[in-house]
Amino acid sequence: MMKNGDVTAIFGEKVFNLPKMKERLPEETYEAFLKTINEGTKLDFAVAEVVASAMKDWAIENGCTHYTHWFQPMTGLTAEKHDSFIEPTKDRTVIMKFSAKALVMGEPDASSFPSGGLRATFEARGYTAWDPTSFAFIKDHSLYIPTSFVSYTGEVLDKKTPLLRSEAAIDKAARRVLALFGKTPARVITYVGAEQEYFLVDKKLRNKRKDLLLTGRTLFGAMPAKGQEMDDHYFGQLKERVAAFMKEVDEELWKLGVFSKTKHNEAAPAQHEVAPVFSTANIASDHNQLTMEILKKVANHHDLYCLLHEKPYEGINGSGKHNNWSIGTSDGELLLKPGKKPEENVQFLLFFASVIKAVDEYSDILRLSVATAGNDHRLGAHEAPPAIVSVYLGDQLTTVVEQLINDGGVKYEAGKLIETGVETLPDIERDTTDRNRTSPFAFTGNRFEFRGPGSRQSIGGINIVLNSIVAQTLTEFAEELEGSTDIAHDALNLAIRTFKNHHRILFNGNGYSDEWVKEAERRGLPNLKTTPDALPYFKTEKSVKMFEAQGVFSRLEVETRGEIMMEEYNKTLHIEMLTMLEMAKQEILPACLSYTKSVAEGVAVKKSLGIKAPNEGKIVKDLTELTEDLMDKIAVLDKASAELPTEDAYKIGMYYKETVIPAMEDLRKTADTLETVVGKAYWPFPTYTDLLYSI
Ligand code: ADP
Ligand code: MG
Repeated sequence: MMKNGDVTAIFGEKVFNLPKMKERLPEETYEAFLKTINEGTKLDFAVAEVVASAMKDWAIENGCTHYTHWFQPMTGLTAEKHDSFIEPTKDRTVIMKFSAKALVMGEPDASSFPSGGLRATFEARGYTAWDPTSFAFIKDHSLYIPTSFVSYTGEVLDKKTPLLRSEAAIDKAARRVLALFGKTPARVITYVGAEQEYFLVDKKLRNKRKDLLLTGRTLFGAMPAKGQEMDDHYFGQLKERVAAFMKEVDEELWKLGVFSKTKHNEAAPAQHEVAPVFSTANIASDHNQLTMEILKKVANHHDLYCLLHEKPYEGINGSGKHNNWSIGTSDGELLLKPGKKPEENVQFLLFFASVIKAVDEYSDILRLSVATAGNDHRLGAHEAPPAIVSVYLGDQLTTVVEQLINDGGVKYEAGKLIETGVETLPDIERDTTDRNRTSPFAFTGNRFEFRGPGSRQSIGGINIVLNSIVAQTLTEFAEELEGSTDIAHDALNLAIRTFKNHHRILFNGNGYSDEWVKEAERRGLPNLKTTPDALPYFKTEKSVKMFEAQGVFSRLEVETRGEIMMEEYNKTLHIEMLTMLEMAKQEILPACLSYTKSVAEGVAVKKSLGIKAPNEGKIVKDLTELTEDLMDKIAVLDKASAELPTEDAYKIGMYYKETVIPAMEDLRKTADTLETVVGKAYWPFPTYTDLLYSI
């Protein structure tokens, strides 16, 4: 625990960060390492040897006995296998050893991770490879080394490797465009800040619900008398237990070098948010994984449980993860910063246009990057952005874009790039008042905020897609403009043409409204409502070509990845279906029967005494009818379960969507009605009121 409020005293305490390296490494090793992380040069084995040894000493001094290659398989979670530093000696004792080889490469037994058939086609082996750009850290007496995870033949099996590839792709494409403007930064960097939403629930209550235990969300539950209609939770006072939890979360994150910055209550009861200061996409992704882990772990210390599911409670806002994304140069220039006069800033307009074009042309892939079983409950449910992808620009940039499109406003003069007549624009970057929370993809001053991602998702996959599609449009821009003799003129025209061609993706209105759904259809924008609708678009020819062109995925990798995502959906639904059946048969039905029996017995006794109890009699009748209905619905879901197709992940997915989910919803409806009429003492598990208002 921190003794005072000085975060600098603990920040990065558990990280082998630059100050520690500087202190512990010979100068030339340190310089070589810096070059690797700043410029992406390959690290010499000899350098790695020195780093490994220093890392080991530091780790041991700080209580570590083990090290682990920490990687991010396609489960969306992280994985680790721990090896101790010990090495036997001839005299049957041990020494503590950590070689460059052990640092640089590992070979976990990887056969049980999802690979979409990749490993069957190739090799059973998977390798982990050190990512020196994300620092090693200490957790639970182990030294954690962030790594990539690839197969023997080099196919990616994780979320980190393609993210690194996509960062390289956007770096290359953006530098080609910058070169046209006479700029030659060493690198172009993708920045990401992920706002993380979550729910807290009392651990003891959570453990009494099989659905929360097995699926992370409630499969049953009638609405509580009080939901979120009072708007009294958003930014509300932190309760003591929650505040203590958040304090510990912050401290743990700071020790791990995560720039934890903002915390507050969210819209729903027991819902909260934590957000860091942005960092590079790769580090932001690692840190978001750590954040989710720390939230879970620290919750446990406070007898709480942290729900990261996208929709833990029906009828109450779900949790997302806002992915704030921007690109900037190693010289410190933010490429999506409009400046005071965006209309005269051709370079900005071009980068801005590249994002708009990318989102319009690949809106299907962007949509499917957030497609999960959990997120299907959230997107388009009038609480989160719709499944229709559109871009919000805000009033000022909309004005700029409109003026540029309507030729009239644009004058081109040598020396002065352009003039649109919009002279009164304030400095846009500072303007944060104009916000539209209903847009899935909103420009917010110097970055885009993608609001589609689900709470539990790794942000790896999302940023792989974002980086790749923007790298693609920037590459196309570079190809078109390279060789131009009047870059200001040609680039401006290209930006204007792009705004014109992709105008349909721009929408500033209410994304939650039904009118927008109709309007989007008129505009020809895809509305891929569910995961089984969206996922097939991953492996279209257009998608494969784009990923291949950007060097992010091979065709095989796209196909297998799509398959894994579909299987994950299917498995999630399978578990939910079985859990629902178990709860209905083993818990809800017996509760209903026993309550009905007890009321019925009362009626019988009264009748034998000659006392009339017509209302009680009616309760018995109503309960019996509802319980019969419950049994019918159980039978329907049982039948749906028995008739599951066995082949073709995409077909199975559609079956879940079209047959299983409606049966689950029907069953839930009846059970939830029963909950409102069965005596509370008989109900077999905690209700929404218990769960939402107990802390
Ligand atoms: P809000 O909830 O108002 O959208 P927050 O302060 O909760 O804003 O979160 C905004 C997130 O955006 C933070 O993680 C912040 O660091 C990040 N961010 C700010 N500027 C950039 C940028 N240029 N690129 C990427 N992320 C950014
Ligand atoms: Mg926020």
